Amino acid sequence: MPTTTFPKPILLSPPHLSDRELVYVHEAFTTNWIAPVGPNVDAFETEFCQAIGAGYGAAVSSGTAALHLALRLAGVGPGDEVFCSTLTFVATANPIVYLGATPVFIDSDRTSWNMDPDLLAAALHQRAKQGKLPKAVVVVHLYGQSADLEPMVEVCDRYDIPLIEDAAESLGATYQGRSPGTFGRMGIFSFNGNKIITTSGGGMLVSDRADLIQKARFLATQARDPAPHYQHSHLGYNYRLSNVLAGIGRGQLQVLGDRVDARRRNFERYYRNLADLPGLEFMPGASYGSGTRWLTCLTIDAAKFGGDREEVRLALTAAQIESRPVWKPLHLQPIFSGCECIGGQVAESLFATGLCLPSGSSLTEAEGDRVARVIRRQHLSLYAQSVA
Ligand SMILES: *Cc1c(COP(=O)(O)O)cnc(C)c1O
Repeated sequence: MPTTTFPKPILLSPPHLSDRELVYVHEAFTTNWIAPVGPNVDAFETEFCQAIGAGYGAAVSSGTAALHLALRLAGVGPGDEVFCSTLTFVATANPIVYLGATPVFIDSDRTSWNMDPDLLAAALHQRAKQGKLPKAVVVVHLYGQSADLEPMVEVCDRYDIPLIEDAAESLGATYQGRSPGTFGRMGIFSFNGNKIITTSGGGMLVSDRADLIQKARFLATQARDPAPHYQHSHLGYNYRLSNVLAGIGRGQLQVLGDRVDARRRNFERYYRNLADLPGLEFMPGASYGSGTRWLTCLTIDAAKFGGDREEVRLALTAAQIESRPVWKPLHLQPIFSGCECIGGQVAESLFATGLCLPSGSSLTEAEGDRVARVIRRQHLSLYAQSVA
């Protein structure tokens, strides 16, 4: 019988460990700090804040937990509205609903794929006139690229609305030379397995206000009143990061620069191999900062390319290569049906045509070239069909 050898599957964004993490994990074991508290947690917070230039940080069990705490600290509660990017992962908006509030979605701009600052400003001006301002704004920094923060900070300050930055996908990026996540009242990061660095699961809430971070730690540890017995006057959560996992984070943080470089190299290789194809366009890089290309994303104009995004995605799947459509906008998600969306066409068209390519920092040159070859071959065959 002939044997077929299948190529090794190529994943979208797998974890990429170094030789540093086990040192800290081992330390946790030998000192018996196997708990959601301990020296690795404290050190991870300090080292993370140093790395991104934030004032204070609280290490928590996920990026979603960090967002939940941020919204709670912003005073969001039942009946409130929160403005939120529509083109993002569902975790950005879920915590709004956990608190009994309602998201109002805002469209992206074409130049950064992130929340359109003009649309945000216009919406806030209009809401101010109606006396119906939202309780908070959540802006997402998508796929490793910062949103255009300056005008957003300005308009949120003007109406005294807390700006919360969801930088889960953009650790290592810059906006005007500084890390996104440090411009608003609070910022959050994620260390899920697919993010640029990982603790398997984990997150960080950062702020320049010590009081907010102190309160976040209090809420994240079941909100225990200072009493010898267990006494509680506030509703808390069990959201702290494990000391074992914080050890993984400390090791990962030391290689963050390498991980950013590797992801940017992936993008550059894809660009060299594919940019000439008709109808194929890469996610633009904004001039106000440096993105990490956490994921390399592109759009496919079916008329010019010869076939659509789904045909390309399925060809990649057939070749054991994982790729994903760009986020489905939240205003199109069944769970948020009925929620208001300001604009929406840009996000809708990015979803219809956008594709995320394998972008892990451990992707080899040969693997990157293989992905590009499948896309180029698919263009040729679709193009031949379309002109036949
Ligand atoms: C991953 C992600 C989150 C959630 O982070 P978790 O650590 O998985 O809870 C939130 N927002 C965005 C944009 C993300 O990509």
